[in-house]
Amino acid sequence: MQVILVGLPGAGKGTQAERIKTEFGIPHISTGDMFRSAVASGSELGRQLKAFLDSGRLVPDETTIAVVRERLQQDDAKDGFLLDGFPRTLEQAHALDSMLSELDRPLDVVLYIHVDPSVLLARLTGRRICKSCGATYHTVFQPPKVEGVCDIDGGELYQRADDTPEAVSTRLEQFKQTAPLIDYYEQRGVLRRIDGEQSIDQVHRDVLSALAPFAR
Ligand code: ADP
Ligand code: AMP
Ligand code: ZN
Repeated sequence: MQVILVGLPGAGKGTQAERIKTEFGIPHISTGDMFRSAVASGSELGRQLKAFLDSGRLVPDETTIAVVRERLQQDDAKDGFLLDGFPRTLEQAHALDSMLSELDRPLDVVLYIHVDPSVLLARLTGRRICKSCGATYHTVFQPPKVEGVCDIDGGELYQRADDTPEAVSTRLEQFKQTAPLIDYYEQRGVLRRIDGEQSIDQVHRDVLSALAPFAR
């Protein structure tokens, strides 16, 4: 099953992806997570990417496409994958089309998790992530049992450097480059809209019904 999750920053892509991944046994491929790991590792790539990530600007297409191309060739992606945060530009979407045809795999469905932009600042500034396992929490909407501590493995929770009001506003602005993908996939008949303003559990149920026809 080849699935793409599209939506504004904070729409709930990562939260839903973590659940689908376990249920369908396909890897969750998040370009944002890969880029953050590169920055944290202090690699040459990470040093080039840090300013883009911290400010909320998109990483150039060439770099992003190369990273995804390599990732999709790894063994765990041979039975399908869940792309979160890629593609984000039409150029990336076209590159993905070529990668899928090289891999001889169809694109099954694009889930567009839509929310009104007015809810996003609260979601993003309250987001907390586990340093060891990457699980996502929210100080109000999805709090851990003990403040600042991951329920799963006791890891320390941190706040992303780009979850500040300033970077959030740049990231919302950058979504203009992603918006044309909605039409692009709608015209191909693969787009499914999901109301992302419902509870996390209800969004999950809707995601599961949208994916049901493609599960095997
Ligand atoms: P994205 O991956 O689309 O940027 P996340 O999945 O990281 O978004 O969600 C952003 C924040 O909003 C997180 O702190 C998450 O816990 C919270 N969140 C996700 N889905 C919902 C929802 N349906 N209702 C309320 N809060 C949510
Ligand atoms: P995310 O974790 O999806 O919110 O992404 C965090 C940041 O990583 C974005 O603000 C961009 O700087 C960068 N990024 C992630 N995915 C892409 C992409 N497909 N194209 C360009 N930049 C990306
Ligand atoms: Zn954890």
